[in-house]
Amino acid sequence: MGDEVLANLMQQSQVFPPDEAFAAQANATADLYAEAEADREAFWEKQAERLHWETRWSQVLDWSGAPFAKWFVGGRLNVAYNCVDRHVADGHGDQVAIHWVGEPGDTRDITYAQLKDEVCKAANALSSLGLRAGDRVAIQLPMIPEAIVSMLACARLGLVHSVVFGGFSPAALRSRVEDADAKVVITADGQYRRGKAVPMKEKVDEGLAGVDTVRNVIVVRRTGIDAPWTEGRDLWWHDLVDSQSTEHTPEAFDSEHPLFVLYTSGTTGKPKGILHTSGGYLTQVAYTHHVVFDHKPGQDVYWCTADIGWVTGHSYIVYGPLANRATQVVYEGTPNTPHEGRHWEIVQQYGVTIYYTAPTLIRTFMKWGEQIPAGYDLSSLRLLGSVGEPINPEAWLWYRKHIGNGSLPIVDTWWQTETGAIMICPLPGASALKPGSALRALPGLSAKVVNEKGEEVPRGSGGYLVLDQPWPAMLRGIWGDEERYRDTYWARFADLGFYFAGDGAKYDDDGDIWLLGRVDDVMNVSGHRISTTEVESALVSHPTVAEAAVVGASDPTTGQGIVAFVIPRGGVAQDEASGEEAIKALRDHVAKEIGPIAKPRQIMVVPELPKTRSGKIMRRLLRDVAENREIGDVTTLADSSVMDLIAKGLRGGK
Ligand code: ATP
Ligand code: MG
Repeated sequence: MGDEVLANLMQQSQVFPPDEAFAAQANATADLYAEAEADREAFWEKQAERLHWETRWSQVLDWSGAPFAKWFVGGRLNVAYNCVDRHVADGHGDQVAIHWVGEPGDTRDITYAQLKDEVCKAANALSSLGLRAGDRVAIQLPMIPEAIVSMLACARLGLVHSVVFGGFSPAALRSRVEDADAKVVITADGQYRRGKAVPMKEKVDEGLAGVDTVRNVIVVRRTGIDAPWTEGRDLWWHDLVDSQSTEHTPEAFDSEHPLFVLYTSGTTGKPKGILHTSGGYLTQVAYTHHVVFDHKPGQDVYWCTADIGWVTGHSYIVYGPLANRATQVVYEGTPNTPHEGRHWEIVQQYGVTIYYTAPTLIRTFMKWGEQIPAGYDLSSLRLLGSVGEPINPEAWLWYRKHIGNGSLPIVDTWWQTETGAIMICPLPGASALKPGSALRALPGLSAKVVNEKGEEVPRGSGGYLVLDQPWPAMLRGIWGDEERYRDTYWARFADLGFYFAGDGAKYDDDGDIWLLGRVDDVMNVSGHRISTTEVESALVSHPTVAEAAVVGASDPTTGQGIVAFVIPRGGVAQDEASGEEAIKALRDHVAKEIGPIAKPRQIMVVPELPKTRSGKIMRRLLRDVAENREIGDVTTLADSSVMDLIAKGLRGGK
């Protein structure tokens, strides 16, 4: 990318120094950077001491087999024991672990003592099916307590779980089950989606047709709708699990024992089965959850709105928070069921203090309008987080103003399925915040922006984001595909040993990092490299726009032309927004914010954007539309009908 990246967002950037009262009580101070710098291994050793180890490690890091790391070599621990049992042993059995809220309005409060019983019963049940450490279990469940219990039961037995989004198609499930060679699948009869019960088991059966490696399918009864049944293979959760003993002795596993495989979002192509192991992963998720969310066990009510089918659900609903003895909200449904204030109603009811969500949802809240959160008491909140995509400065400011009382710290957390845990992010209470910038690597971690040759770029310029030091929660490979692992992440800067993240980024004049979107998405207009994120942020900063997605479509004169898809904000009618004048105003706005070169060639007003189930915009599909190609793989799309709507609109457009 080099120096040509257009500098623009910096001009809008405001700086919010840390709040003194927050800083005074914060879990982390700025000293942590120096401490980690002085001796990285000693720093991580200290973080690993957050956990209970059956056997202490003999070496912190073995990087001799790079790019395959070993952390806490020789150490042995049980991940589930760390997330559940030890809190009960420490006298916190009565603390609520999970305030679960079902979509139809049913609720369950589960204490740590109850969670321990549930996990032990499920572990006994899985053992009774003959599963042994190292075997793979696929989990396709809605956001119900059994999903978390299943993951922890696997961890307890050393079984490797592979969680598949509840909304994924039979084909997506099938490819994941086959790739990991799963012996058991855990699912539900049905799931609630936008107020309706829809079949799940039926779809699972479709996906498993002809797959003979799956010995058992365990089915949770969630909705009561009919589930097709295969005698001898299928078992009801309540028949299998409820009668089991609540006694189960956890076995300690090697620090490098596999914990899970999780497939990436597939935003840029075919999903990759990312492998994570135990000791290093749990250390980094616990550490980051503690410092980034400033979490105080027994005091905070934490809510991460992700689905467990996404890495954020693994690291910041299941493993990090439970290792840190959090009390958290888990919500089953969509944010507008039965009404658009559902999240704020839940925040008010449970006194949520820490709220962690994705930019896509923040922009959706903007679209619905600020009057909706204004109708609720959000005064319990004290920290907000964002993950999944670059957060547009406009969305950041809206989030702070309308959800965060104009004063709460926002942590913009950059990380990936592959990194396992947060990497680049402010330290609340210590960092001065900049809307739209994730700032810098957390203490103990290292990230750089480099050019094609791997040389660090100067301040004020852009390039490729790399991670130049191994980290505890790093992936240990792609399941069954060592070559793809090396090619995808390590080949680009092979001589330097840098991990290539696939994202573009730049340093501002202070040396803070701004994520610019995928390297694959960077547009080239008349020889200028322009980031999709920057144009999208410029569009979203216009008062009529709630969401925007931008792609480069091939153009006979300029190489690529910028095609933008925009969703109007609440209160702005679709026709009004697509009028010639409105479109011209938007194009001019982008020219003013960034420069005439970034002016979109074409702007389409659309009702929706194609998104993955984790809420990321799939630009590659929009590029297919903009270039009149057949639309590529849509199996990880949340709603595939969106593409037809957009394609029709575009052909009808100019
Ligand atoms: P695939 O790798 O299969 O294309 P994916 O990259 O979308 O899918 P994830 O691992 O879920 O799968 O997403 C990680 C990516 O999300 C990052 O590489 C980055 O592009 C984006 N991302 C996540 N958090 C942030 C953030 N705070 N700021 C900017 N980008 C972010
Ligand atoms: Mg990726």
